[in-house]
Amino acid sequence: MDFFKPMGGTPEEPKGESKELEVKEHHKCLILGSGPAGYTAAIYAARANLKPVMYTGMQMGGQLTTTTEVDNFPGYPEGTDGTAMMEDLKKQAERFGTEVRFGMATGVDFSGKVKKVIIDDNTLITADSVILATGATAKYLGLESEEKYKGFGVSACATCDGFFYKDKVVAVVGGGDTAAEEATYLAGICKKVYLIVRRDELRASKAMQKRVFNTGNIEVLWKHQTKELYGEHVVQGVELWKNKGEANEETVKYDIDGFFLAIGHTPNSDVFKEYLDTDEVGYVQTIPGSAKTNVPGVFACGDLQDNTYRQAVTAAGSGCMAALDAERYLGEQE
Ligand code: NDP
Repeated sequence: MDFFKPMGGTPEEPKGESKELEVKEHHKCLILGSGPAGYTAAIYAARANLKPVMYTGMQMGGQLTTTTEVDNFPGYPEGTDGTAMMEDLKKQAERFGTEVRFGMATGVDFSGKVKKVIIDDNTLITADSVILATGATAKYLGLESEEKYKGFGVSACATCDGFFYKDKVVAVVGGGDTAAEEATYLAGICKKVYLIVRRDELRASKAMQKRVFNTGNIEVLWKHQTKELYGEHVVQGVELWKNKGEANEETVKYDIDGFFLAIGHTPNSDVFKEYLDTDEVGYVQTIPGSAKTNVPGVFACGDLQDNTYRQAVTAAGSGCMAALDAERYLGEQE
């Protein structure tokens, strides 16, 4: 058969060039992604006897596995560990018969009624319905020290981790609405919040800017960029460039306990973009009040389609919607 586009391509097999692969399996319901959205979709799809097969993606368990404690997911009065919670969700999905496999969708063809998905560039699976739950990836600055302290003072989610910095001093990097929102959220918990902004103005909406400027314990560090984080085992401080590239460039240090990234997210939609309606950033657009995409039989849930709430619990809720929508769709096809 001829078809589709592998993601990125390889030197031998450029992007967009067709490739011959035998169909290995056909399933009623294929789920891509293993965060709270994917697992919840799997629980519902399995209980509806859709015999779902899930491919987890490279980061099994999704973004929650990069945080330590999860305190805001309903049902855990003492909080839980992000990785442990995703293990629980996996077990729950498997208990009802979901087959969970490690692998990554590297190409799709959603042009026909039967959906085609390439896994790891070498396995072709077809399905009557596909639930996309591939999430979004928080952008990081790309510093070595940032990598070193991930989960030990470095976080990309204030609502997830802010509470652990009660009465402490933290820094937020970014100048958009997310940074402004996270800084004001953290200001309600922490003693002091530095907002590290690379230019001399914020990109955030005027209303959000006003909130930042009216919050006494937020100090905006204009024209500052992060050089390095330091500390013994955990973050204890940040070194910044001030006026980088200008005659008066200097480096400054601040004692901090937490460092929050808020420089945007990238939805993991590259593989599907050719077929699906997305916004300008790449978030998959769903029909309001549903998980339906513009392609019948393809559903999207979780952070892949949510630029606003981005919470584990909202992702789980939308995963449930995707499975119910898929079940209805399949029922209508019979
Ligand atoms: P944005 O892309 O809007 O902003 C990213 C910010 O990070 C910019 O200020 C940018 O700086 C800065 N930045 C990017 N890269 C770096 C870097 N390497 N070093 C330092 N700073 C960097 O992302 P957001 O996540 O803030 O928002 C995404 C979308 O979601 C927007 O449309 C926003 O309006 C929306 N949103 C709405 C909310 C609401 O309405 N309540 C809440 C949150 C988000 P620079 O400005 O110099 O480019």
